[in-house]
Amino acid sequence: MKRIAVDMDEVLADFTGKCLEVMNAYVGTSFTKDDLYGKTVNELYPDHSDFLVEVVQAPDFFRRLDVIEESQSSLKRLSEHYEIVIATAAMDVPTSFQAKYDWLLEHFDFLDPRLFIFCGDKKVVQADYLVDDNIYQLNAFTGRGIMFDAPHNLPNDYDVRASNWLEVEAYLMKELDSSTASKSDTNRTV
Ligand SMILES: [Mg+2]
Repeated sequence: MKRIAVDMDEVLADFTGKCLEVMNAYVGTSFTKDDLYGKTVNELYPDHSDFLVEVVQAPDFFRRLDVIEESQSSLKRLSEHYEIVIATAAMDVPTSFQAKYDWLLEHFDFLDPRLFIFCGDKKVVQADYLVDDNIYQLNAFTGRGIMFDAPHNLPNDYDVRASNWLEVEAYLMKELDSSTASKSDTNRTV
């Protein structure tokens, strides 16, 4: 089985959505994701970055994130054909470890927790594919990257992109077909 590494924030967990919700309530704004083209929430509130850091570092913040649409059902179907590894750059926010682990157990109970990787740099992740929103992590990764659309990465240039989980699933199922086809080609020539 080939292996897919999957990022958490912005790919499985709606990090930006929760940050926006908290900051809109705190500052009295009504920004939406459409206001974030090419930007992070932090860049939208330059005068409140200390507050946002405090919010994100609260031990239960990551426990409260919403699940990205279709991610559960698509990953469940993909897990019948691929080994699924979760690779999150949790070292960026060390206070998040427990919340992230509990969140995964609740929302992705069909995954094997022994395949959860809390790392910093995804160059150390060994997988055939990486689904991630972060251009730096995708560039550091040594396998085939799939950039998952997030407001901040929309201006980035990347050759394989997906705007939702159904697109990720379609791409990876097609990859499976083409590798099966090339294998049977090989069998024919032997
Ligand atoms: Mg991410």
